[in-house]
Amino acid sequence: MTHDISLPTKQNFTFPSICVVCEKPNPESQAELTFFEHKFSAVEAASTIVTQTAYHVEPTSHIVKGVPACSECAKKLKSHHTWLTVVSYALWLIGIALAVFLPIEIWWKAAVLIAFLFLPGIISVVFPPAFNATISKDTITFEFASETFANEFKKLNQTKSTE
Ligand SMILES: [Zn+2]
Repeated sequence: MTHDISLPTKQNFTFPSICVVCEKPNPESQAELTFFEHKFSAVEAASTIVTQTAYHVEPTSHIVKGVPACSECAKKLKSHHTWLTVVSYALWLIGIALAVFLPIEIWWKAAVLIAFLFLPGIISVVFPPAFNATISKDTITFEFASETFANEFKKLNQTKSTE
């Protein structure tokens, strides 16, 4: 379970000065993480296979800088994100390979692909990183494993937007 806070994409945000991983006050370091805007739609990808048309995605990346963390925690957080990215791509490739090579009907191919596209999302819910963000066109949702951090973040940022 993560503690989620959504803000408009355009709003500036401030992080409280506690480690996002271990909750230690005034950590000596900061982490920088890259997130991709979720333009990729599993449904559209599946319809691509069914209709055999080209589906083309250009993900927009957003860099979130200055995430407070101790140097050790920042390293852990980064490697967790790297691990999740690698696993996601591996699963997508397996899903695509299965969909292409299995001698099954086109509808089953689409079903296989959709299942594999959703797996990475499920994995990141089961093994959530200390800090994650989901970015869509208008909102950015911050997902924190630490409730303390999430509450402090909320105090710092949501007071302005709820008026
Ligand atoms: Zn820490």
